[in-house]
Amino acid sequence: MVHYTPMMEQYLSIKKEYPDAFWFFRLGDFYELFFEDAKRAAQILEITLTSRPAGKSGEKIPMCGVPYHTANQYIKKMIDQGHKVAICEQVEDPKEAKGVVKRKVVRVITPGTLMEESMLAEDENNFMLFLTKAPDLYAVVGCDLSTGEVTGTEIGDWGLFVEEVSHFQPKEVIMSTAFSQNEIKGLKQHYPGIITVREVGSADVVNASEWLRLQTASTQSEVINEALVLMYEYLLDTQKKVVDHLQPFHYYRSQAYLSLDTHAKRNLELLQTLRERSRKGSLLWLLDQTSTAMGGRLLKKWLTRPLLDQELIEQRLDIVEILVNNPLVREEIMLILKEVYDLERLAARVAFGNVTPRDLLQLKRSLQALPDLLEQLDQLPNNCMHPLIDSIDPCPELVKLLDQSLSEDAPVTIKEGGIFKPGYNEELDQLNKASREGKNWISELEQKERERTGIKSLKVGYNKVFGYYIEVTKANVHLLDEGRYQRKQTLSNAERFITPELKEKEALILDASERAIELEYQLFIELRDKVKNYTYRLQKLAGIIAQIDCLCSFAKVSEKYHYVRPRFSQNGELVIQEGRHPVVEQVLPSGEFVANDLYMNDKDRQILLITGPNMAGKSTYMRQLAQIVIMAQMGCFVPAKEATLPIFDQIFTRIGAADDLVGGQSTFMVEMMETKRAITKATPNSLILLDEIGRGTSTYDGMSLAQAVIEYIHHQVQAKTLFSTHYHELTDLEQELERVKNIHVACSEHEGRITFLHKVLEGKADRSYGIHVAELAGMPKAVIERAAAILQVLESKAETAVATDQHGTYRDKGPVQLSLFGDEAQEEPYRREPKWQQEILEEIETLDLINMTPLEALNTLYRLQQHL
Ligand code: ADP
Repeated sequence: MVHYTPMMEQYLSIKKEYPDAFWFFRLGDFYELFFEDAKRAAQILEITLTSRPAGKSGEKIPMCGVPYHTANQYIKKMIDQGHKVAICEQVEDPKEAKGVVKRKVVRVITPGTLMEESMLAEDENNFMLFLTKAPDLYAVVGCDLSTGEVTGTEIGDWGLFVEEVSHFQPKEVIMSTAFSQNEIKGLKQHYPGIITVREVGSADVVNASEWLRLQTASTQSEVINEALVLMYEYLLDTQKKVVDHLQPFHYYRSQAYLSLDTHAKRNLELLQTLRERSRKGSLLWLLDQTSTAMGGRLLKKWLTRPLLDQELIEQRLDIVEILVNNPLVREEIMLILKEVYDLERLAARVAFGNVTPRDLLQLKRSLQALPDLLEQLDQLPNNCMHPLIDSIDPCPELVKLLDQSLSEDAPVTIKEGGIFKPGYNEELDQLNKASREGKNWISELEQKERERTGIKSLKVGYNKVFGYYIEVTKANVHLLDEGRYQRKQTLSNAERFITPELKEKEALILDASERAIELEYQLFIELRDKVKNYTYRLQKLAGIIAQIDCLCSFAKVSEKYHYVRPRFSQNGELVIQEGRHPVVEQVLPSGEFVANDLYMNDKDRQILLITGPNMAGKSTYMRQLAQIVIMAQMGCFVPAKEATLPIFDQIFTRIGAADDLVGGQSTFMVEMMETKRAITKATPNSLILLDEIGRGTSTYDGMSLAQAVIEYIHHQVQAKTLFSTHYHELTDLEQELERVKNIHVACSEHEGRITFLHKVLEGKADRSYGIHVAELAGMPKAVIERAAAILQVLESKAETAVATDQHGTYRDKGPVQLSLFGDEAQEEPYRREPKWQQEILEEIETLDLINMTPLEALNTLYRLQQHL
C-alpha cells in the first residue's frame, strides 16, 4: 500500500464528497487534477499530463493543471462537455497554516449552475430541472440560477411529462429516487445531458429557509414541494451557501398554453431550421428584433408557449397595434432599450456575490435609461400600456447611490482599486491623496536631484524588486555627494541608489495604495450588499422591460412586413385572405411569394385534402397556417391581408423530414407514431397537419392507412386538418365524407417550361399532370404513349372498383400518384408487374383451346389485346 504525502491524504479524504465531479484542487497559482481525473481532463482540455511524487517513498501519480487566473476557460470546456467541476480552494493563509493548508470545496459547477456571464448564452435560459414523483403524478420544477427564475407544474401523464421536460431544453436534470430504473432509462432516451439521481432529503431544510417556507406554503402540491426541496438541497450542496436571489416560485398549467410537442416545434421550424438546425431561417430568427437579453429570452418563451386565453392575447395585440401605429415613438423606445443591460442576470450576480464594479456601472446606466423610456411610453395615445408603465420602477435611490459611489471607469476586478469616485469615502480620499502626493513628490524628485548634482542624465525609476531608485551612469557616479546615496544595484553602465527620504515616501505610497485597495474592497462589498436589497425590485423590472421589448419587436416586424391584426372566431370558422409563410416570404426574392387564401369551418370544411406535384408548395402552405396560428396566439400580427381564426388548443404535425431517424426507429414507424399521437390526443379545437401519410410503406398499404386516418379524423376527432397526399384516389373521399374538401396547388406550362404557380385552388389536381410534364421534359414518344395507355387502364379499373366504404377498405383499385420526380412510392406501379397483366396471363393459361372455335379464340385474343 502506498503511503501518500499529507497533502495527497487530504485530497483523497475529501474527494469522496463529490465523486462524480472533476476536482480542481488549488495549489498556489494553479488548479491541479490528480489520478483518473487528470488522465481524462488532460484529454478533454488538451493539456499535458505530467506526474508528481505523491508517496512518502517517492511514488508518482498522474497530474495535470491549469493556471488559476485562466481557469474559467477550462472549466467552461468541461461543463460544455457535460461534466461537473468541484472547485477546491485553500481556506487558510498558507503562512499561518500548521501542517497542510486546509482546503475545501467552495462550489461545484455543473451545466445547470453556471453563473459566469462568459459561460452563459445571452438569449437563452439556463434551466436545470428537478423531477419528483407521487403515485400517478409527476412534478417538473425548472430553476435558472443565472436569472433566479423558478417555475414548474405537475402532470399526470408520463408522455406529457417527458414533453414538458424537453420543453425546458434543460442543461441538467436532477431526479428523485422515487423514479424507477425504467423511468430513468426512458427519460434518458429523450434527454442526452447530465441526469443526477438524489434523495429528496429531509423536510428540515424547509424550516431553515424563508424562501422555501414561503413557496412550499403556497403551492398546495406535495409533489411540487418535494421538487422544491430537492432543488434547494442541490443548490446548497453545489453552491455551498444559501442562494438568496431566487424569485418566487411560478406555478403554471401547461393546459393554459397552445400545446406544441417537440415534433411540432421542430417541424414548424420555430427555433431552428430542420435541415441545418440553424437559428437563421427559423420563425424565432424572423420575429426576434428585441433590444435586450431579457426580451430575447422572453420572446423565445412566448413563441413556444402561445396563449389560449383570448383576453390575454387581445391585451398583447392592443399594445402591438399602438406600437405599429406609432413607429417613431416605438423606434425611440427600442433605441433606449438598447441601453438596458441584462438586469435579470445582473441582479442575480449581485445577490450571488460575483458581481463586478463594471456590472454595477451597467446596472446604473440601465436604470438611468428608464426616465427616458417612461417619457416615450407616455407619448403613446390611447394608452393600454398603463398597467405595464405603472409598474416600471426606476429605483431612483439606487441610481443615486451608484452614481455617487462608482467611478465612471470602474474596473472589472475588485482587487485593484479604482472603483470609487472621490468624495464617496473620506478615508479612501485621504489614502489616495497620500499616495498621489507621494507620487508627485517622486516625480518632482528627478528634477531636484538633477539640479542638485548637475547630472543631466539622472533618472528616477521603479521596479518591483527594489522599489523606487535614483539611477546614475557610471561616468557620473563621482559627482554624487558622499554618504547621501546608498548603492542598491549595479548595472553594466549605471548604478542605482536610494536615499532614506525616497524610501520613506515609497513606504508611504505603497502603504497608502495597499490600504486604499483593501478599503475599496470592503466598500465594494458594502455597496454590493446595499444593492442586494433591490434584487426583487430589479427582477420585477427586468420582467416588465422584457415584455415591452417583445411587444416592440412584434410591432416592428408586423409593420416592416405588412402583417395584420388577427381576429378570433367563436364558431370555429377560419378565414385567411392572402396568407403568406412569414419566413419563406422573406427568404425568396421580393415579390416572388404567392399569397394564398384558406377557408375552413366546422360544418363542411374540416379536412382539406391537398394534391399537387412535388415542389408545388403543399408543405409550405400547411406550415404557413400553423405559423399564422402560433403568431396570432402569441399576440403578434400575422402575414395575411385578413385573418380570422378560431383559438386552437394544440397543433400536431407529421411533416416528412430527413432527420426522422430517432432512436433507431424506421422512418415509417416514426411517421405512424406521430400520426397516432395526433389522432389520439387532438380535440375538435386542434389543428393537425399531415404531409403525405403512408409514403413509407407499399402503395396499397400506405393508401389504405391514409384513408383510414382521414376517416378517423372526420368521424371521431373532428380536428381541423390539412392533409397533403400523392394518392390521387383519396380525392374521391370528398364525395363520401361530408366535411372533406379537395384543394390543389396549381402549376402551368408556358413555352415548353413548367411553372409552379404556387397558387392554391379549389378541387383536385389534374392526374395526368406527371405524364404531361414528362412529355415537356422530352421523354421519348414511345414512353409517353405507353404511360398514357397504362393510365387509361388503371383509371378504367378504378372506375369499376368499389371505391371505399366507411371503414376504408380498398378492393381492386390501382394506385396512381402525382409526382414530378420519380420518388420511390411513385415508381412502384411501374416496377412491379401490374395486376392486370397477371390477370391476362392467368386467363391465357386457363383457356381451354382444344374446345374453342377459331372465332371464339380470335374474339378472346381481341378482348385481351384491348387491355394492352
Ligand atoms: P411540396 O410540399 O409541394 O413538395 P414545398 O412546400 O416544399 O413543396 O415548396 C417547395 C418550394 O416552393 C419552397 O421551397 C419554396 O421555395 C417554393 N414555394 C412554396 N410555396 C410558395 C409560394 N406560395 N410562393 C412562392 N414560392 C413558394
